[in-house]
Amino acid sequence: MIRYFIFLIAGIAGSIIARRNGRNPIRWFIICALFPFLVIVVALLPVRMSKGYSKKCRYCAEIIKENAMVCKHCGREQPIEGTYVDADFTGTS
Ligand SMILES: [Zn+2]
Repeated sequence: MIRYFIFLIAGIAGSIIARRNGRNPIRWFIICALFPFLVIVVALLPVRMSKGYSKKCRYCAEIIKENAMVCKHCGREQPIEGTYVDADFTGTS
């Protein structure tokens, strides 16, 4: 029985560390519960640069998935991060 307790503790620890580092806590709970030694791995992994796994739509300000191409709330296409295109540029100058 104590074996399952260790897995549970490992899963919780993994999810807490994952959440703190901007990773998916549910995914890491399962991974760490199955393989408790991976708690060390997730603890040593660098913090993800993104602000979690969701972002704010720049048109309607609703929270959408980080990798979403189209906003599920307003249906507008999301600009790809880092490749900002100036919408005001018309080429008439
Ligand atoms: Zn939107």
